[in-house]
Parts: sequence; structure tokens; C-alpha cells
Amino acid sequence: MRLQDKVAVVTGAASGIGKEIARTFAREGAKVVIADLDPAAAEATAAELGEIGKTTLGVAMNVTDEAQVDAGIDRAAATLGGIDVLVSNAGIQIVAPLDQFEFTRWKTLLAVHLDGAFLTTRAALRHMYRQGRGGSIIYMGSVHSKEASALKAPYVTAKHGLIGLAKVVAKEGAAHGVRANVICPGYVRTPLVDKQIPDQARNLGISPEDVIKKVMLKDTVDGEFTTVEDVAELALFFASFGSNALTGQSLVVSHGWFMQ
Ligand code: NAD
Repeated sequence: MRLQDKVAVVTGAASGIGKEIARTFAREGAKVVIADLDPAAAEATAAELGEIGKTTLGVAMNVTDEAQVDAGIDRAAATLGGIDVLVSNAGIQIVAPLDQFEFTRWKTLLAVHLDGAFLTTRAALRHMYRQGRGGSIIYMGSVHSKEASALKAPYVTAKHGLIGLAKVVAKEGAAHGVRANVICPGYVRTPLVDKQIPDQARNLGISPEDVIKKVMLKDTVDGEFTTVEDVAELALFFASFGSNALTGQSLVVSHGWFMQ
């Protein structure tokens, strides 16, 4: 049990990568808060993972809404006994060529990834600093935190930005034993990726099969998708690492698509 009785908030935890991280943390003894835009799915996921109000909690939260984030994190801390781990994971994808990218869609994407990361970080840090028992903040970056792809201007911009935020949190949080790190996955077969396959096929004028083979997995060492379990394992490693020795870092899990 590597997270016994730790309280972990995972945003975007009603689906995909976030859900698997919440499941892994619960298995390792953590109390998990499922924070998601979709209230019914958040409740259902929380109920799947433990006893609501005791070992889990579903929280309806739009991570771009300051009041909802502050209220949700405060409720989680009051119900489950503080905040030890934050996984800022909620995310969306919008693909289009730059010359046709609508400004409103650019702003929507940046808000979910960057405003969301800032607001949840600030709310969690206030609890972590007050509690005085340290903490771990994990950002869900991407290979796109290090590398670019066509059609993904705001996503690549936001994911690069998270590395900067993590480094600042690492510096400011150190005195309080709060660490911050970024996970950078390659393509993982979740609803977020399934939705963009037809979009990319349309934009690039190729088949969905070719989007997978010739775009998404082209540069991996073995043509394989990264799995939600791969990413959750790394989240567990960062969440349970016990000192400031490992902070301000970003680690790529991508079947060798990107090698640092
Ligand atoms: P997903 O679509 O399966 O899940 C995303 C979850 O985030 C959903 O439950 C959704 O309701 C929630 N969400 C969306 N907007 C929100 C908001 N404003 N407030 C709160 N919750 C919100 O996606 P996923 O693939 O599991 O992606 C999770 C994270 O992993 C994202 O940050 C994504 O950019 C990142 N990522 C994904 C991949 C991949 O290939 N799937 C690769 C690298 C990084």
C-alpha cells in the first residue's frame, strides 16, 4: 500500500487516463476524489472505487471555474481529511490548421489545460501548506509537452506550458515538502483519442487506419499505443516518491516516440 490514507484529487477522473489513475491510487490505499465536468460519471466512478464520503468522493467541477474549483477542493479536504496529492489531468483536444483555428476554440483549450492546472494547483497548495505534511502535484502533460504535431497549436502550447508551471511549483513548494512533476504520455486509446481519429483523417485527407499507423504511432519503437495502466503506474511513482529529490521533472512514457 504505497498511498495508505493519502487523499488524492484527480481531475478528469470519470474517464480514460484519470479514471485508471484513481483506480490505481485506491488500490494502493488512497482516498480518491473524482473531480470531473460530468457529475453523473464522477459519482458513478467514485461509487465504483469505494465508500462515498469515507474513502471516495465524486465532485462536479469545471476546472476553468474558479469558484467551483475552490469549493470542490475545500469540500474534498473537509470530507476526506486534507489533500496530499493532486493530479491535474482534465483535458480536451481540438485539431485544426493554424490559419483556420477559431480564437474561441483556442481560448477554450488553453483554459481547460492551463487555467485548470493553475486553479486546482492553487486550491490544493493552500491545503498542503496549511496541513504541513507535504504533498505531490502531478500534471498530465504529453509527448506534446516536448514535441509538436501539425494541427495541434493550442494543445502543444498548453502542454509545453505545464512544464513551466511544474518547475515553479517545485521551487515554491519545496519549503513545504510539496513536489511537482509532469507525466508525458504518447498516444493512449481513450475517448479523447478515439474522437480525434476521424477529425485528423478529414483534415489530412487520409483513412482512419492511416491516422493510427502513419501519424499517431509512426515514431514509436514498436507501433504500440501506450496504455492507461502505463500512465497510472508512473502517476503512482510520482505520488508516492518521498522526498524533494524528485521534483520539477517531466517523464515521457510513449514507446520511444520521443526520447530525451
Ligand atoms: P478522456 O476524454 O478520456 O477524459 C478526459 C476527462 O476530462 C473526461 O472525463 C472529461 O469529462 C473531463 N473534462 C474535460 N473538460 C473538463 C473540465 N473543463 N473540467 C473538468 N473535467 C473536464 O481523455 P484522456 O485521454 O483520459 O485525457 C486525460 C489527460 O491526458 C488530458 O489532459 C490529455 O491531454 C492527456 N493526454 C492524453 C493522451 C491520450 O493519448 N489519450 C496522451 C497524452 C496526454
